[in-house]
Amino acid sequence: MNQDSIPTVGAVARLIQELNRLPSIGPKSAQRLAYYLLRAPEEEAKQLAEAILSVKQKTRLCSICCNVADSDPCATCRSEQRDRSQICVVEQPQDIMALEHTGIYGGLYHVLHGAISPTEGVGADNVRIKELMNRLQGGSVKEVILATNANLEGETTAMYLSRLISPLGIRVTRLACGLPFGTELEYADDVTLTRALEGRQEF
Ligand SMILES: [Zn+2]
Repeated sequence: MNQDSIPTVGAVARLIQELNRLPSIGPKSAQRLAYYLLRAPEEEAKQLAEAILSVKQKTRLCSICCNVADSDPCATCRSEQRDRSQICVVEQPQDIMALEHTGIYGGLYHVLHGAISPTEGVGADNVRIKELMNRLQGGSVKEVILATNANLEGETTAMYLSRLISPLGIRVTRLACGLPFGTELEYADDVTLTRALEGRQEF
């Protein structure tokens, strides 16, 4: 902000309103962040604004795995090191980050961008299932690991996928317990997630 431009209450109110829209940011936190940014050096605020814009402008979805990436295909799909016979299916891009953090999985991924939820009107066509089925055509995939969340929507989706994929003669596994019911993958700790991945079972 210029020295001579005093921010109006409207500008602060707008920033609070925008921050308040973010997940897990309540009105109190939004207010605290807004006033923090108001006092922060202009450079810091600019960097945050640029980072937000750049994530919108420079990232795209990988046309193979549907993960968020800055190139298409993404680095994982391009990598020679990854085991191409395994695809781990997750609901959200951040689930991949959690699984990668365990360091024990070397296959490929597929991001559904949601889960089937009849109560919320989300059907099979609203998530990236068609893209997944296309990937299974070539015959190189031997196992699909269903790593959808351990809640009602995640289970419904896993069941639906299992019924579609099993007839293709591809092994279908599901992350083992270890993940308590109701857990979202992105919040699971490394040990729980490792145990769940290692103990995955036929589904
Ligand atoms: Zn990819």
